[in-house]
Amino acid sequence: MIPSILPTYTRAPLTFVSGEGSWLTERDGRRFLDLGAGIAVNALGHAHPELVAALNAQAGALWHVSNLYNIPAQQQLADALVDKTFADTAFFTNSGTEACELAVKMARKYWFDKGEDRTEIITFKGSFHGRSSAGIAAAGSEKMTKGFGPLLPGFTHLEFGDHDALNAAATNQIAAILVEPVQGEGGIRPLPDVCLKGLRDLCDQHGILMILDEVQCGMGRTGKLFAHEWASITPDIMMVAKGIGGGFPLGAVLATEDAASGMTVGTHGSTYGGNPLACAVGAKVMEIIADDMFLAEVNRKAALLRQKLEGLVASHPDIFEEVRGAGLMLGLKCKATNTDVVAAGFGQGVLTVPAADNVVRLLPALNIPDEDIGTAVEKLDAAALQMQREHA
Ligand SMILES: *Cc1c(COP(=O)(O)O)cnc(C)c1O
Repeated sequence: MIPSILPTYTRAPLTFVSGEGSWLTERDGRRFLDLGAGIAVNALGHAHPELVAALNAQAGALWHVSNLYNIPAQQQLADALVDKTFADTAFFTNSGTEACELAVKMARKYWFDKGEDRTEIITFKGSFHGRSSAGIAAAGSEKMTKGFGPLLPGFTHLEFGDHDALNAAATNQIAAILVEPVQGEGGIRPLPDVCLKGLRDLCDQHGILMILDEVQCGMGRTGKLFAHEWASITPDIMMVAKGIGGGFPLGAVLATEDAASGMTVGTHGSTYGGNPLACAVGAKVMEIIADDMFLAEVNRKAALLRQKLEGLVASHPDIFEEVRGAGLMLGLKCKATNTDVVAAGFGQGVLTVPAADNVVRLLPALNIPDEDIGTAVEKLDAAALQMQREHA
């Protein structure tokens, strides 16, 4: 018999009933150090007092009005994003997937309005852009697309890192290139800064729009507000979600005035996107994260965690192969099976998330206390020791 919840997920036998900072409490009372943060969503940890206050204040005043009216919290968040990024304008969604939908529509409409037949979008293998028709067609993997055809046409999938294929494919017939500066689901694979710069040059050369998917790597995750800042480039369009709501469903598409020029009245919309509750929280998240002092702390914590993880890998060469990633978006490439490592972590009270390429992902809250970083690595060490004992 089919479960009452559509069985598309394999769920760990864990039921969390409350959270505080980087810790979650299971209903049996056990406490877990959360290095997954809801997959980079709880960017400020659980139950951050300022986010709780922002949500409660808005909840007591007004939950929802249509985008047919002005929404002050949405305006505040849009202004903050425009102020702190390359963007001139923002559209709010409820998820990263919806941001992908708009990014694709925006790029195609741009060329349509210019009277040019440019609809093709270049993407990269191993990428993840959400589970909608556009999202799965963009990623193109068999795992995500098989059985769901006919797929949305107009995506060319290139091998990650194949420069020759990229140079051959990037012509003045291409509408856009869509890429994650750091692949998340694909196994924490950062695109080197020089490649992101090269990609920007290639786009400029052929008039191609550059769309960055910063749904996972954005909002302070890599130690800059957005990951592309490390490469000193700017995109034309950017997808944001996950961390921006700190746990409240919220996403956005940011764009330059030029790239957004096709999106006129009536061309796109959302019932819930940019609603007062989401934007009240998002505006507070933005206020906290888009602060140089906060980001400096993220970088300091990232260096601390990375150094401890290098030690962990060195102590367990039969379990781990390497540490990779950027900022607090780190991956442990495993020799053992990544899901076994995640399960062993459960036994020690630490939560991590598997990713492709046999990687265990660490995406802690950006404000994780130093003490919790130490505890986290001790727990991972205990999990690795436990695995070694079992295999002996
Ligand atoms: C999670 C994710 C998405 C999809 O976001 P949802 O909120 O799950 O729809 C898209 N792109 C990237 C890079 C992601 O990590």
